[in-house]
Amino acid sequence: MSALVWLRRDLRLQDNPALSAALASGLPVELVFVYPQDPDSPLAEGAAARWYLHHSLATLHSRLSELGIPLHLLRGPAETILPRLCGERSVARLYWNRLVDADIEKLDAEVQRASTDRGIRCERFDDDCLLMPEDALKADGSVYRVFTPFWRNLRDRIDINGVLQRLSAVPDPVGSPIASDGTALDALGLRSAHPWHEKLQTHWQPGEVTAQDRLADFIAHHLRDYDVQRNFPSVDGTSRLSPALHFGELSVARVYAGIEQRLLHAPDEAVRASMRRFLAEIGWREFGRHTLHAFPHTADRSLNPVFDKPEVWEPDHMNEKLHRWQRGETGIGLVDAGMHQLWQTGWMHNRVRMVVASFLTKNLGIHWRKGVHWFTDTLVDADRASNTLGWQWVAGCGTDAAPYYRIFNPDTQAGKFDPEKRYIKHWLNERATVPPSIDLKQSRARALERYRSVR
Ligand code: FAD
Repeated sequence: MSALVWLRRDLRLQDNPALSAALASGLPVELVFVYPQDPDSPLAEGAAARWYLHHSLATLHSRLSELGIPLHLLRGPAETILPRLCGERSVARLYWNRLVDADIEKLDAEVQRASTDRGIRCERFDDDCLLMPEDALKADGSVYRVFTPFWRNLRDRIDINGVLQRLSAVPDPVGSPIASDGTALDALGLRSAHPWHEKLQTHWQPGEVTAQDRLADFIAHHLRDYDVQRNFPSVDGTSRLSPALHFGELSVARVYAGIEQRLLHAPDEAVRASMRRFLAEIGWREFGRHTLHAFPHTADRSLNPVFDKPEVWEPDHMNEKLHRWQRGETGIGLVDAGMHQLWQTGWMHNRVRMVVASFLTKNLGIHWRKGVHWFTDTLVDADRASNTLGWQWVAGCGTDAAPYYRIFNPDTQAGKFDPEKRYIKHWLNERATVPPSIDLKQSRARALERYRSVR
């Protein structure tokens, strides 16, 4: 008899409640990762994130091999693969961590049903969020739709001792080292044949240990000035932990507790403000998860349905404009620089994400869904909940949305946050700058007309 841990976006050994419980069961432990065949599965990743996942799994695989814990890498529907594997490996207990996503939770229920029918005991653990959606409702039982009250109330409800209790050490070796099987990883087909992804390796080193180092470096060198520096895209002022948090190389509990504990000893108000700001960004991540959990249809439809009316968007013959945006050839400096940063590194600074998203949806009048698709394929941190939240926030059609008349002017944003054009020059480099493809003032006025027509 053995215990099996089903890994998804929790690719770590430390602070992993499912793994800790399996090891505590006293049974021999094995792990499994199942990548879906169906590209529309909520567990499927876009191209850049698949590259990241491949390398994160490779790192995890070799660490597990050193500890003597087998990792099975399989591709297909988890609801049929897992019960079959449990039969083959005489599994008595199946453990996994919850992902706060209603579509993934439907899959969890299917796996649980099929496994329980075969007499396997299933246990699922809270992870992925600091508070689970059902514990973060308003007093009247409804869901928060605006971030500020959500975070003000939620922050008070986070039990830091409970969060600390979720943290656990890296397990001790449980057996002799086992040979790593690189072929099984290749069979998941995560790396595309196109060499585009090769440049990502100069920017990212996936894996739990590197993520821990990144967090430590951020706390030591960048956290104190975060509140100010996070706004300037040419400055290395943010943590860049987003892919590590998406794939669970770090637990959100560890990141949150690490900062929250330091808050008590912060030397001055400016540092406290930076720490609180960082914790609030983790709060935005929670808010995105809770929102998508409550309104799963918003992964591809506007929360406010008025914004899916055709009059809000320019007619669908805008492909050329979409392609120029994707290629960073709009002639608008900050937009083009951001799109090049994305293409080169698989990541884009948050302020620039807001600017390019506003430009696509408002100035070009292209549906936010097209932006989501491009980001999903090109971001190493592409995340259904945060991506949906970010796009609908900017487009003005989701929770806590910026009012429809708030349209970022990319030139004004560049003047404020990239005054010496360091970011723009860096990413546009020697490239010939193209003349602006659109008049910002006229396209803004047109966007306002379109939006007003459906209000
Ligand atoms: P930091 O500033 O260091 O923040 C720490 C962590 O907090 C991040 O790693 C992230 O997990 C979380 N966080 C920060 N800001 C946000 C936010 N606004 N919403 C949700 N979580 C946040 N983030 C993703 O992780 N995946 C996405 O697919 C994604 N798509 C976005 C699309 C748009 C249009 C916009 C405007 C934002 C999007 N974001 C997304 C949010 C944000 O841009 C990134 O989380 C952030 O830039 C990541 O960099 P960082 O790790 O250095 O962030």
